Amino acid sequence: ASGYGKPFNEISGVITEFQNALACAERLFVMIDAEVEVNNGNANIDSAKGEIEFKDVSFSYDKSKKLIEHLNLKVEPGKRVAIVGPTGAGKSTIINLLMRFYDIDAGEILIDGTDIRDIDIDNLRRNFGMVLQETWLKNATIKENLKMASPNATDDEIIEAAKATHAHSFIKRMPYGYDTILSPENGSLSQGQMQLLCITRVMLNIPRMLILDEATSSIDTRTEQKIQSAFNKMMKGRTTFVVAHRLSTIREADVILFVKDGQIVEQGNHTELLQKDGYYAKLYRSQIA
Ligand code: ADP
Repeated sequence: ASGYGKPFNEISGVITEFQNALACAERLFVMIDAEVEVNNGNANIDSAKGEIEFKDVSFSYDKSKKLIEHLNLKVEPGKRVAIVGPTGAGKSTIINLLMRFYDIDAGEILIDGTDIRDIDIDNLRRNFGMVLQETWLKNATIKENLKMASPNATDDEIIEAAKATHAHSFIKRMPYGYDTILSPENGSLSQGQMQLLCITRVMLNIPRMLILDEATSSIDTRTEQKIQSAFNKMMKGRTTFVVAHRLSTIREADVILFVKDGQIVEQGNHTELLQKDGYYAKLYRSQIA
C-alpha cells in the first residue's frame, strides 16, 4: 500500500491558517484525503532519463461510466506536455494515473520502459517534482519548509534556489528572514508567495520529471511572471507535464493534449493543432480575440 498519502495529510493538517486563503484553489489531486490501495513494486527509477509512455491506457473512477479510453502518448526525455481542456475533462486524472494515485484498468504506463506498477511508489513519486496550486506549508520556519524534500541542503544552496525563484527578496523582508516561522503573527504571505516557496522547495531537489499545475486563481502579474520564470528554469531538460492555462505555456509545449470528456481529442504541437482547425484552434482563437 502507498504510504504517501499520509505525509500529505499531516502536512495539510497543520496549515489551517493558510487554508482559508486557498479555499478556492482547485485541487489537483482529489485523492489527497482518500488513500487508495495500490500494490507496490520494487524497481527504482533513480537513473531514468525520463521517457514516459502511455500505452493503450483506459481508466474510469466509476466503472459504469467511461472516462479515459485507449490513451496513447509517448513523451521523449526532456519534452514538455501541456494538458489543456475544460474543467472536469480529465486533466488531473492523467496526473493521478501517472503518480499512481489510482491504477489504470487496462494498458500500461511506462517510465524508461518500466511499468509504473513495478516501481516502488515512493521512489516513483520522489522522481517527480510537483508544484500544485494547493501549497503545502508547515507551521515551521521558512527554512524548514524549504528543506522538507532535501534535509541536507546547505544555507547557501537554499539561498541560491530562492534567488532563482525570486523568493529571496520577500523572504529577506520577513521579520526573521529564513528563520521566520510561518504564522499569522509574522505577517501573511500572498498566495503567489506561498507558491514561490513551494517552487523553491522543488528547485532544491529537482528530479528528472516534473508535474506543474498552473494557477487559475488570482495572483498579481508580477508574481505570476516570477513563477513563470522559475517554472521555465525548472523545466529545462526535464520531462514535464503541465496542467496548463496560460497561452504562452501551451504554445511553447512540445505536445499539447486537448482533453474533452476524458478523451484526448487532439494531440500535437501548437502549429499542428492550429492547422487541424479543431477544438484547440477554436480555444486559441477565442483567447487571443
Ligand atoms: P479536470 O482536471 O480536467 O478538471 P478531472 O480529471 O478532475 O478533470 O475529472 C474528470 C472526471 O472525473 C470528472 O467528471 C470528475 O467529476 C471525475 N472525477 C475526478 N476525480 C474523481 C474521483 N476521485 N472519483 C470519482 N470521479 C472523479
